[in-house]
Amino acid sequence: MDSNVGIPVVDAHSHYFSTNTLRSWLQRGRTMESFTNRTKTRTDMTSIELPDEGMDVAQRWVDELDRHGVEAMGVMVGNDAYDEFLDARDRFPGRFLGYHNINPRDPDAAERVDRAAGDGFYGIKLYPSSWRDLRVYDEPCYPVYEAAKERGMLVFLHFGITIGGQADLRSGNPIDIQIPARDFPDVNFVIAHFGAGYFRETLMMQYQADNVYMDSSGSNSWMKYQSHPLDLKTIFRQALTAGGPEKTLFGTDSTFFPRGWRINVLEAQYRALKELSEEEDPLIDVEGIGKVFRGNILRLTGFKP
Ligand SMILES: [Zn+2]
Repeated sequence: MDSNVGIPVVDAHSHYFSTNTLRSWLQRGRTMESFTNRTKTRTDMTSIELPDEGMDVAQRWVDELDRHGVEAMGVMVGNDAYDEFLDARDRFPGRFLGYHNINPRDPDAAERVDRAAGDGFYGIKLYPSSWRDLRVYDEPCYPVYEAAKERGMLVFLHFGITIGGQADLRSGNPIDIQIPARDFPDVNFVIAHFGAGYFRETLMMQYQADNVYMDSSGSNSWMKYQSHPLDLKTIFRQALTAGGPEKTLFGTDSTFFPRGWRINVLEAQYRALKELSEEEDPLIDVEGIGKVFRGNILRLTGFKP
């Protein structure tokens, strides 16, 4: 299947929220108003639609994927969307690959990794930017990596700035993953959003570790908060220089309706890589572009769309 930009695409990083997910947010006291205020000023979402009882979330995502010619989407799945996600995946085989959100502070975190693997998840997602007094190299995280190693699970990490209002950036530096990556050479780690502001550190990890990858997901609006001007093409140029075409995974960070699947993210990132491939002595060719938009995530997970 070819996407609307003319090449096969698998989105490596998006989110699967259920009715329950949003309901539990509201119960935790995060009002829709304060959340939409943050998304309005910091993202391209002007409105958020709450999935109600009648909304078929799975069908809506599949309609979006079909509309844009996208083969499959990798999604972060929290506890409250877990069962709904499994149901969606079984209804639409080959369209969703799941990563389960894990908090290493949970006493049964390692068992959850194990259970997710047994349920057919391909990876886990850690959110260190939201942790308090816990770094990815701390002892409670090690059983989680051990379980990821045993079950061949890919480990996504959201470091850097985040829309979550409860962030603690002291836990958000991608450099922190260097020691776990050294201790678990068989586990592959993916730093989401090119480090979401810690771009230099993410690039440095490409020198230091062979098993640390980057994803390109979202609008990469973190570039506005850097001390020097950046654009998408420059970001990809640096990522390719440091890691080559095997180390970056395309993602859109699609999350909510009515925005749906973010075709504008695909278009902008494809354009940037296409332009880079047409330069003299290019850092990437057609084959490399195929790896970024599809091949890398399939190689790292074994998922078959
Ligand atoms: Zn995300």
